[in-house]
Amino acid sequence: MILTGHLLIEDGSGGCQLRTGHVKLDGEIIAEISLDELTPRGNRSIQGVIGGHDCLICPGFIDAHLHLSQFGIIGAHGLPLLRWLEEFTFPEENKWNDPELAASTTATALEELVGHGTTGIAAYATVHHEATRRCLQVAEQKGVRALIGQVLMDCNAPASLCRPAAQLLNEAESLGAKYPPNRRVAAAVTPRFALSCSEELLRGSGKLATEQQATIQTHIAETKIECQQVQRQFGKRYSQVYCDAGLLTERTLLGHGIYLDPLDRQQLATANSKIVHCPTANSFLRSGEMHRQTLMEEPIQLAIGSDIGAGYERSMVRVAREMILTAARLGTSVPSASEAWYSITAGNADALSWLDAGRLRVGASADLLIIRPSIDWQSANSDPLSKLMFGWDDRWIQHVFLRGKLARSYN
Ligand SMILES: [Zn+2]
Repeated sequence: MILTGHLLIEDGSGGCQLRTGHVKLDGEIIAEISLDELTPRGNRSIQGVIGGHDCLICPGFIDAHLHLSQFGIIGAHGLPLLRWLEEFTFPEENKWNDPELAASTTATALEELVGHGTTGIAAYATVHHEATRRCLQVAEQKGVRALIGQVLMDCNAPASLCRPAAQLLNEAESLGAKYPPNRRVAAAVTPRFALSCSEELLRGSGKLATEQQATIQTHIAETKIECQQVQRQFGKRYSQVYCDAGLLTERTLLGHGIYLDPLDRQQLATANSKIVHCPTANSFLRSGEMHRQTLMEEPIQLAIGSDIGAGYERSMVRVAREMILTAARLGTSVPSASEAWYSITAGNADALSWLDAGRLRVGASADLLIIRPSIDWQSANSDPLSKLMFGWDDRWIQHVFLRGKLARSYN
């Protein structure tokens, strides 16, 4: 199979560029990349060649933060974070007491994500062990690349969603043993956030993640009120709570990071932990706006996520667009479209330590998109990557490949 068109490739300085060329697949991987040549023989009518001069060949998008159980509450508007959790999120997550429902919800969610071009995710399940196990199984069956964690909560949430710390840690350990790191579908250690965890649970999570060398997912400093409550509950700064529990590692993904003081930022940079910027969720819940430039100057490595269901966008292109607009509203250094395309592909792959994903590279997994835009994006005197990002239409996605297999086709 050969995909031909305009290849979205890295430009070597944190951005992307388009180059004419073709990509040859061999089974599940990219076997060959040729630049400046549309196809070996020049047109898509040859059997086994798809794409063409009007197409983009793009690595599948990666979403570095979302909640698989929350697709049903996308659009539940009007409340700040802590009330939104109580009134919409926790009742929705309660439904995953039924593992069959969890499996079918996950299947639908993954189909929607793949349909929007997302082929890799870092995601939260719920506190339910069996539901999380089914969630991991479904991800494996669907062929997406995934980090998924059982949510760990033992306080400050409805009783039906809390479990004793020891039980949660045992359950998370067994998931990690069955789905170890570096597998295409791996379990992540996922304490929800400091407020819903005892110190015992946080420390146990840190210890488990170290033992298993697992990715850690949690939230940090999404709202001011949450930060104040963390200070009251633990008597220390937010990042210090995680640091003392052994949760700040280079494998740690921290959602949001809007209200971090200089000491927090320094601590995260020293640990090489990643902040996952979730601009659509932040605007939806009126949480505030993450100061991307300040974090990058620290320097803290950034990823980007939809944070469904507080985030209302399934398309990572639109999430990236919101990242640009957020920086513009703050009046700070505005990422270019080239950097935004990079952030939802190779940038997120790097933050998740997925070295064979998010980029067109020989030997990488063939998780690829063929996109046929309907607008004139190739005309002179304008940035094609900006035209494509701001003119984006999901209907342009023609084919989605997962591990070299055609997973979705809209022709
Ligand atoms: Zn979240």
